[in-house]
Amino acid sequence: MTVTAIVGANWGDEGKGKMTDVLAEKSAYVVRFQGGSNAGHTIINEYGKFALHMLPSGVFYPSVTNIIGPGTALDIGVLKRELQMLAERGVPEPKLYISERAQVVLPVHRLFDELEEERLGARGFGSTKQGIAPFYADKYAKLGIQVSDLFDHDRLQIRLEQSLVSKNILLEHLYGKQPVQAVDLMAELAREAEYLLPFVTNTTVLLQEANDNGDTILLEGQLGALRDPDHGIYPYSTSSSTLAGYAPIGAGLSASSISNVIAVVKAYSSCVGAGPFVSEITGNEAEELRKRGGDAGEYGALTGRPRRMGWFDGIATRYGCLMQGATEVVLTNLDVLGYLDEIPVCTAYELEDGTITDKFPMTNKLYAAKPILTSLPGWQCDISQVKRFEDLPEQARGYVDFVESAIGVKVTTVSVGPRREQVIVR
Ligand code: GDP
Repeated sequence: MTVTAIVGANWGDEGKGKMTDVLAEKSAYVVRFQGGSNAGHTIINEYGKFALHMLPSGVFYPSVTNIIGPGTALDIGVLKRELQMLAERGVPEPKLYISERAQVVLPVHRLFDELEEERLGARGFGSTKQGIAPFYADKYAKLGIQVSDLFDHDRLQIRLEQSLVSKNILLEHLYGKQPVQAVDLMAELAREAEYLLPFVTNTTVLLQEANDNGDTILLEGQLGALRDPDHGIYPYSTSSSTLAGYAPIGAGLSASSISNVIAVVKAYSSCVGAGPFVSEITGNEAEELRKRGGDAGEYGALTGRPRRMGWFDGIATRYGCLMQGATEVVLTNLDVLGYLDEIPVCTAYELEDGTITDKFPMTNKLYAAKPILTSLPGWQCDISQVKRFEDLPEQARGYVDFVESAIGVKVTTVSVGPRREQVIVR
């Protein structure tokens, strides 16, 4: 039995999409267990380049059954557009199931996300405005709409009316907008329910049986450990757990089912949105790294926003791997650092009171924390075509060894480019 969680050890954008795509080929099931359309997993394959927001990354393989699990925020509009886009670009229709327990992102969630970010102005959180925070707020306030509710007209109407009472007070009196009526939402949701029907099933039974049969299951995380609401840089976190510990819950499996946790670590740091970022670099140094990063520069897969850049942060990454319970690490984007003769890395933080620490502190202490940097020798060449670890330049192998010792987890795979085949298994 192998249930593997693939998750981010940093702030997201580590290259999970590419690695999930690589692993999906050998999996029977690929499952999204948290979050919604607020992430973008970049995948480059024989069909072209894709940024998937809602669909699991296994959709390019006809042999994979893809599941959108109970813990996700299902945006039906985005799902529809993504499926349409795949068809238009020649990808065979994927095998896809949606949990009847997943909850639905409503237009009113998106509206609140936009209005609140606007109201907060400069104090905003850098939301991607996909409605995710208002969605999870409703979920935990027990006001959410589960997929199964879409097929029960009377229950849906009652639940919407209940949920809209307080929202309409805020819409009218806080934001100065028109109220939203349940009947207006009902018509749209009825159309969406019809669209969803062929995909909806009890995915929990499906997965539990698959697990009992010993099928290979890949649980695909979104964002990274430092965006976890409990263990990340709250409140600059996301609204659902990004940790492997949550993966079986959000997927519909038991805690003991997970056999392997692959944490994806980036060879440098990048971060989208607001919040403290200790190893951040700015100016030309950042621009140079941003321009060379990823497959076409470091710009948000969803928003196109330039990502904030930084050097590899051993403190944040070790903490991220620890919270993920990583059993192995995939180190991505190593090729990107090939232009540097010396590569700075952060090995400790100096806190405001002068304390030097290698333990990741609370968010409020991060603002004033200064990175303690050391430099490793660069390799100054293109490693993107290297296939075997022993063929990497000595300095690149040394960098991987450094990362491994900084985080205390074995780096089993090194990614040296955005394409599927650009992986070195150690
Ligand atoms: P995800 O959300 O973790 O899947 O990450 P994103 O897809 O948002 O960002 C990762 C970016 O890095 C994308 O542009 C990928 O195509 C790219 N990428 C992934 N692995 C590598 C790698 O090893 N080297 C390079 N140069 N780019 C990579």
